[in-house]
Amino acid sequence: STFEELKLSPELLKGLYVEMKFEKPSKIQAISLPMILTPPYMDLIAQAHNGSGKTTCFTLGMLSRVDPNLKAPQALCICPTRELAIQNLEVLRKMGKHTGITSECAIPMDSSNYLPINKRPPITAQVVIGTPGTIKKWMSAKKLGVSCVKILVFDEADHMLAEDGFKDDSLRIMRDIERISSNCQVLLFSATFSETVKNFVSRIVKRDHNQLF
Ligand code: AMP
Repeated sequence: STFEELKLSPELLKGLYVEMKFEKPSKIQAISLPMILTPPYMDLIAQAHNGSGKTTCFTLGMLSRVDPNLKAPQALCICPTRELAIQNLEVLRKMGKHTGITSECAIPMDSSNYLPINKRPPITAQVVIGTPGTIKKWMSAKKLGVSCVKILVFDEADHMLAEDGFKDDSLRIMRDIERISSNCQVLLFSATFSETVKNFVSRIVKRDHNQLF
């Protein structure tokens, strides 16, 4: 299959070919992208290891759903570590270079010149990628509005749900988004499906969804 078949915008195709230097979709991309990118934008639970090309699956999902004219968070990606959040943000910025879509990292900061969240204006970035605790904190501080969020990604869900605090925060974020923003698409990627992950999945995905194992 080809990236053209996915009806991606010319800006995104340029990102894939020129910036990323990808030629064609990997196996998981060929299978999942039609599900992710096509109405009714069903939820997806996928088993995906590092190196399978999963980052491209959810990054294209987020970039293709964002309305560039709406200056508000519309896509949220939750990651187990700040390093992964930064890495995913770098991929999104590179792939989305020609789209003009704005993005921001929501991770704990330790720099002395960092402005605390309660002293900052509300987030207007269209994509927010971060760790569960910080995302929850920004939401509680009313600095991260989720009423326009239409796609929510859980990356490396097994690592994230291994920590109770992260698990609670993830569920809370998920619930708040579902309450405020109707019809949010959920994409969940996990290398393993332990009882904990299966439990979490069964609680979050009430709608019809696709599974890839
Ligand atoms: P990931 O599993 O998303 O971390 O991706 C693993 C590696 O494969 C990364 O270095 C990607 O840049 C690369 N990659 C992902 N998709 C493709 C593709 N369609 N063609 C070539 N390389 C790819």
